Amino acid sequence: MLNPCRLCDAKCCKDHVITVTSFDVLRIIGKTGKKPSEFTELRTANLLNSDNDTIIECYKNKLRYEYVLALKSHPCYFLKDNLCTIHEFAPLGCRVYPHNDRGRVGARALCPTIAKLLFMIKKPDIMVGEYLRYFNEYKRIVAKWNKKHGTKEDCLEFLLEESKTSDI
Ligand code: SF4
Ligand code: SF4
Repeated sequence: MLNPCRLCDAKCCKDHVITVTSFDVLRIIGKTGKKPSEFTELRTANLLNSDNDTIIECYKNKLRYEYVLALKSHPCYFLKDNLCTIHEFAPLGCRVYPHNDRGRVGARALCPTIAKLLFMIKKPDIMVGEYLRYFNEYKRIVAKWNKKHGTKEDCLEFLLEESKTSDI
């Protein structure tokens, strides 16, 4: 079947800011050998952020709300010639896109209309349930971190260590 993304110039990888979970980071490190600092960053959380449960709180001089992101810059670090170079192990949020958490193509997805129609036939690369299972576990780990009142420097290591020992 035609890959719907062939009909597009990777708009989602250029226009969206992608939240990655610590599970995504571990998987990408394992497959690419890259350091997390090469492809992730903690960014000040956007007030319009729709999911408060992934906001990371770091303390030092003042309270800060931040997000772990896959993007060092736009377009995405892993985008080459308008294609994802890590497609098979990309962040689960990327692999499920443009489907929403019920497996339907999201109304606000950036895909061209014809690509959206093809995505209605084509299933996501991973099961939506699997994506949600990891995402919910990530939220649990973030909540645990937020109770620690830790600093920005210690945050990623904590998230990664918790993910390594998670039952998931
Ligand atoms: S998922 Fe949609 S917006 Fe992203 S590259 Fe494919 S067609 Fe384009
Ligand atoms: S990881 Fe791949 S799919 Fe996700 S934003 Fe980057 S290039 Fe696009």
